[in-house]
Amino acid sequence: MQHIIDRFISYVTVDTESDPNSDTTPSTEKQWDLANQLVEELKAIGMEDVTIDENAYIMATLPSNVEHDVPVIGFVAHFDTTPDFTGANVKPQIIENYDGGDIVLNKEQNIVLSPSYFKDMLQYKGQTLITTDGTTLLGADDKAGITEIVSAMEYLIQHPEIKHGKIRVGFTPDEEIGRGAHKFDVAKFGAEWAYTMDGSQIGELEYENFNAAGAKITFKGKSVHPGYAKGKMINSMLLASRFVAALPQDEVPERTTGYEGFYHVTGIEGSLEETTVKMIIRDHDKEKFEARKKKVAEIADEISNDFMEQFGEPVAIADIKDQYYNMKEKVVPVIHIVDIAEQAMKELSIEPIIKPIRGGTDGCQLSYMGLPCPNIFAGGHNFHGKYEYVPAESMQKATDVIIKIAELTAKKYNG
Ligand SMILES: [Zn+2]
Repeated sequence: MQHIIDRFISYVTVDTESDPNSDTTPSTEKQWDLANQLVEELKAIGMEDVTIDENAYIMATLPSNVEHDVPVIGFVAHFDTTPDFTGANVKPQIIENYDGGDIVLNKEQNIVLSPSYFKDMLQYKGQTLITTDGTTLLGADDKAGITEIVSAMEYLIQHPEIKHGKIRVGFTPDEEIGRGAHKFDVAKFGAEWAYTMDGSQIGELEYENFNAAGAKITFKGKSVHPGYAKGKMINSMLLASRFVAALPQDEVPERTTGYEGFYHVTGIEGSLEETTVKMIIRDHDKEKFEARKKKVAEIADEISNDFMEQFGEPVAIADIKDQYYNMKEKVVPVIHIVDIAEQAMKELSIEPIIKPIRGGTDGCQLSYMGLPCPNIFAGGHNFHGKYEYVPAESMQKATDVIIKIAELTAKKYNG
């Protein structure tokens, strides 16, 4: 396991923070540092067709070692880290044989990782936890995923007695800013299906995510001296507040869970003459998703209608744009790809946790680009901040799951 820990540390100590304000791919120059390192490592462990394109997308092949035809499968992870928290100068701390108590991440700043707040920690008693020093994120999201894929490929190369079909590996930049998939060459990747290794706790297996839309509603006002305003003034801020009040009050992120969708107001900016409301709309169910978008448009229309006579044109204009869709639609027709992952976990005594994602993944975009792509745990917790940690044992288990999926796929298509 030390080998896996060393590999993981060699990745997280390279800063690869992405930047949503950049138009280039990768969004930050420094992502090349780890990308180039990964290319060399993939070649060194014996992978074939190792390529990196002008946008830093890395692909590599592990050739089949069986005679019969097996569908080509892939494993995908991202090497950037979120811009939400600094990823520079990561100094990982290794806590061996975790005793179930508080872990002092940083004595000077009194930053403590405590199971009384993060209850998940308790399931890893006795294991080796890798944490931050309290001043950066860790980057287990998703360098744990990369560690597991590279380690699994290395293991398969060193153990030719394990039979598998052709396997493709793909590492992407910029997932954290929603651009991990958009320049992914699915045809060049050439896999029938793939798995992102980008989930959280051990056992997670996900193939349902939200349908997602973003909306911007612009409210138009009419400025008149308040002393002479009767029947003339239209205050766009009040129109906006009427709009927000008309949204279903219980269907918000803080009051929903599981398969319950929501409306989420993310920003309001305004003056008397013009106010904009920004929001996101989420639902796993396609019909309910469409109904939610319709509802937003209807509330805006209702407000416009009330002022049509006075204003002469709509005072509330809703601009609603789809962002991504539930991958379930693309995965259910090929549900055996989920079954194989589930079986792999069971054979390794890992209890599969199959639940809908209340968000999206690279895999949902890839699924709509023709590469069905469920998501598997990478093992980390508390992503995107200083409390991020990963048990080394979970990274080992995820590595084992990759190996087992390769093996089961070859077996399933044998004769
Ligand atoms: Zn991730």
